[in-house]
Amino acid sequence: MELLDGKKVAQSVKDALKLETARLRSLQLRAPHLAAILIGHDGASETYVASKIKNCEETGFLSSLIRLPVEVSEKEVLDTIGQLNNRDDIDGILVQLPLPVHVSEQQVINSIDPAKDVDGFHPVSTGKMVQGMPTFIPATPYGIMLMLEYYGIPTIGKHAVVIGRSNIVGRPISILLSQQGTYANCTVTLCHSRTTNLKEICLGADIIVAALGKPGFLTADMVKENAVVVDVGITRVADDSKKSGFALKGDVDFIQVAPKCSYITPVPGGVGLMTIAALLKNTFNAYLLRTQGDTN
Ligand code: NAD
Repeated sequence: MELLDGKKVAQSVKDALKLETARLRSLQLRAPHLAAILIGHDGASETYVASKIKNCEETGFLSSLIRLPVEVSEKEVLDTIGQLNNRDDIDGILVQLPLPVHVSEQQVINSIDPAKDVDGFHPVSTGKMVQGMPTFIPATPYGIMLMLEYYGIPTIGKHAVVIGRSNIVGRPISILLSQQGTYANCTVTLCHSRTTNLKEICLGADIIVAALGKPGFLTADMVKENAVVVDVGITRVADDSKKSGFALKGDVDFIQVAPKCSYITPVPGGVGLMTIAALLKNTFNAYLLRTQGDTN
């Protein structure tokens, strides 16, 4: 069994971006600039946004954090996005989810200029991704694809089972794995809460991507020998032994499942770190597209 080390792969992605950014700066060009909108003070959202900003700084990117109060109106959020859309010095815009219930997630996503949609959630980005056109791919599935490539995991003709059909993880990774490509070309089964024979389907899988948000859901009796297991789940579970009062748990029963796998991602230290690296890559590509009409 080999661990798919998100820390190592993410660092290699960030190192390459840092070099490229330093090269731009040496040519007196400005650095890529990410703007993040954070509404309210949800603990997990605060942590995620702080990490995104910190990673921008480490890579040499510019970043702006726009904080809005939880009672902000939907119109004010849309106006803020409109202003960022119009700013020439901003390359990427992300709005940290989840939003307060009175603000429509779809309206917010649809209002972001597709040229700055570095989260890849806009319908234009989704449509292009489905058609295999160059676009911004949602950061978590993009990060998983970068990881498979880094480790040279054989995927062609393999049966990949994705558990979870959300727009941000399950559905896009199922599309990416099914597309043509050296680290794709899988036969994909997309499972969800209404799937009836999940265990049987998983037992036929060469690759399993677990993205449902239920800690320890994927157990050893659902996994065949030598499978590749990618654990996307991140759930905060109360843990008095931790200073924070919680531990992060994945969707895989890691202790039992890992010995059966050829490769497996840990939680933490796996997909989560790749998500931020992929967001930085999307931001860099947005910068190139906007300033040079090109992507790397
Ligand atoms: P979601 O709640 O939007 O979707 C969950 C999906 O799981 C749904 O499609 C549902 O049909 C499916 N599901 C639920 N119960 C099921 C069951 N018993 N059997 C089969 N399918 C079932 O969640 P999401 O936003 O896709 O996130 C999933 C998990 O991934 C969460 O733990 C989330 O925190 C984590 N996540 C991690 C990252 C990262 O960077 N690592 C990024 C995004 C989400």
